[in-house]
Amino acid sequence: MCAAISVKEANELVLENSGDFGIEKLPLEQAAGRILAEDISAERHQPPFDRVMMDGIACRAGDEFPLKCLGRHQAGGKIPTLPEGNVCWEVMTGAALPHGADCVIPVEALVRKEVEISLKAGDGGARVAGRFIHPEGSDAKKGDLLLSSGITIDGPVMALLAANGYSEVRVYCRPKIALLATGDELVDVNAAVGEGQIRRSNDSMMRGVLAEGGFAPSYVAHIPDDFEALVSALQKVLKEVDVLILSGGVSMGAFDYVPSALQKVGAKKLIHRITQRPGAPMWFGIGPEGQRIFGLPGNPVSAMACGARYVLPLLKKAMHNRLANLPSEALLAETVQSMDKRTFFLPVRLEWKTGQAILIPHKVPTSGDFMHLGETAGIAEIPAGEGEVKAGSFVAFYPW
Ligand code: AMP
Ligand code: MG
Repeated sequence: MCAAISVKEANELVLENSGDFGIEKLPLEQAAGRILAEDISAERHQPPFDRVMMDGIACRAGDEFPLKCLGRHQAGGKIPTLPEGNVCWEVMTGAALPHGADCVIPVEALVRKEVEISLKAGDGGARVAGRFIHPEGSDAKKGDLLLSSGITIDGPVMALLAANGYSEVRVYCRPKIALLATGDELVDVNAAVGEGQIRRSNDSMMRGVLAEGGFAPSYVAHIPDDFEALVSALQKVLKEVDVLILSGGVSMGAFDYVPSALQKVGAKKLIHRITQRPGAPMWFGIGPEGQRIFGLPGNPVSAMACGARYVLPLLKKAMHNRLANLPSEALLAETVQSMDKRTFFLPVRLEWKTGQAILIPHKVPTSGDFMHLGETAGIAEIPAGEGEVKAGSFVAFYPW
């Protein structure tokens, strides 16, 4: 077992070794929620023509009223010309401005008598050249950089991709993830529970934590506390996945085979033990084919805290999301003692108070009690040995 390292060192090691999972090209309709892996530029000027912004008429600001209306020009239609003389075209929002026109007057300012259009009394000021015209190329010029790689494809990004003809788009691949729960005491959710047994909940918990970052496992299994069984499960699963998350069997117990089994299959240990509570025995390393491997302690609160503090940040970093791993801080609502030499991951509820996110420490009777964590949103990171962290201080927050 290597010496315990600090949370800061562990964080650096985990993030330095995030790697990535490659790039794939997806049809636009499958790209929402993914991370963009290419720069996006304007297909043509935007708007691509002088665009009418109001329903009304297109005319020349200098012409004398009444104007003769030449007809109706609808959005999407071929662009008409406005000949000389006191004439206009009736136009609709989104239409291209007729050639020769320099002014749009909204319908609210007009009176119409058959083909004769006059201004309403007092609306003479509506006749202003350029008003209600969205000029060609004023939003973007052809070839302008509109988006750079590394952002989440959300509503505005989808709109922009569609408007610029990106029927396919390059995105960062999500990893294939396996969850392996170790422990002889564990039974399935739907199994009868015998004496001394408990239901497996860490793999379900980890599904929930992964979902916070848009990830999902593709393989889940339960392995007994048996060295050979664990080694053969690891050999099998490591061929299939990019990321392996184990729970249990990572500490000092007689049946804690995870570190030795990982060594046996050729995984390189980078972390085993961190000066933190809960979750001190966490193991992290790299598999023979570069797989990222986490050995989380079996205690559900520990596994959850390590999931939020290390697993999710690694996955988000590997996705190249420029905004995902910005430090998130919030106001601590109550003073917390921090006499310990270990960093404390404190489960917290997240609430809004006068426009500010506040973290309310959630009292858990024992570190194994996850029955009362349902309302919590993640962990606040309380630095080691500061004496106390006062209510009103900003502390790092990691969601789960
Ligand atoms: P371990 O880290 O293997 O010593 O596990 C510590 C304790 O965590 C066990 O005794 C169980 O009570 C609990 N535990 C381990 N694995 C799980 C799991 N998959 N789901 C729920 N509880 C677990
Ligand atoms: Mg165990």
